[in-house]
Amino acid sequence: MPEGDTIYRTARTLQKALAGKAVTVFETGFAKIASANDDKPVVGRVVEKVEARGKWCLIFFSDDLILATHMLMSGSWHLYRTGERWKLPRSKMRVVITCADFQAVLFNAQVAEFHTERSLARSSQVPKLGPDVLANTFSIAAGAQALQKYAKQHPEAEVGVVLLNQRVMAGLGNVYKSEVAFAAGVNPFRKMSTLTPREMEKMVEAAQRYMKANVASGASEGIVTYTGMRRTTRAMDQGARLWVYRRQGQECRRCGAAVQMRKQGTQARSTYWCPECQPWVE
Ligand SMILES: [Zn+2]
Repeated sequence: MPEGDTIYRTARTLQKALAGKAVTVFETGFAKIASANDDKPVVGRVVEKVEARGKWCLIFFSDDLILATHMLMSGSWHLYRTGERWKLPRSKMRVVITCADFQAVLFNAQVAEFHTERSLARSSQVPKLGPDVLANTFSIAAGAQALQKYAKQHPEAEVGVVLLNQRVMAGLGNVYKSEVAFAAGVNPFRKMSTLTPREMEKMVEAAQRYMKANVASGASEGIVTYTGMRRTTRAMDQGARLWVYRRQGQECRRCGAAVQMRKQGTQARSTYWCPECQPWVE
């Protein structure tokens, strides 16, 4: 399944290519969307912004129309230069949006719906997000405050689960969850109630730094794929990119202890940590 941060990158790439441009072609394989498009055509509207919300990618058009697509399992948006050959067959195409020089194609998605600002606000499906790590308006203080607030309401919640909760803070995927906890020296299985304000700040600061670096490293890709490099260590060789993620049994790059892995939360996501650098705290 695409990661939160991958959907972020997708949204930002689409935003860069499409925002401010008028739609010249709109096609869809979704019957409900197609009939809505017959009544209120997308063609002629301007793409205002593209936003990621959890596993959803939202495209905002002028005159209060929003296309919400869920990236469930295999769904993916590709971005092509107009006329460029698609990497997947036309039979997998679910939505095409063409704006002048670019063509955004949604493949394999099973859920897409049109919204207005109002229906979106009322939707129980599309999540309302916490502060967005990649937003220009994001601050360490706002992120730390969001964690603090959640910790008060859910003192028993585990750090690694909370870092993935897009309603608390939006943007982190499973890879950076482990990397962020490592950067702050926080054992990801600790309860939220055990965190100090300083530890929360450190995690938020690392989250912002890693996410920004990751987005920057993928910024020049024309096509959005789900295999983009993620980089959190400063080393350039690929094997040394991450501190703990997928390094189970290998030596910690900081202290040499063996990196651990355990499934965490109701979704059993893999969590990696160094038992020395991220000691247990009751
Ligand atoms: Zn270590």
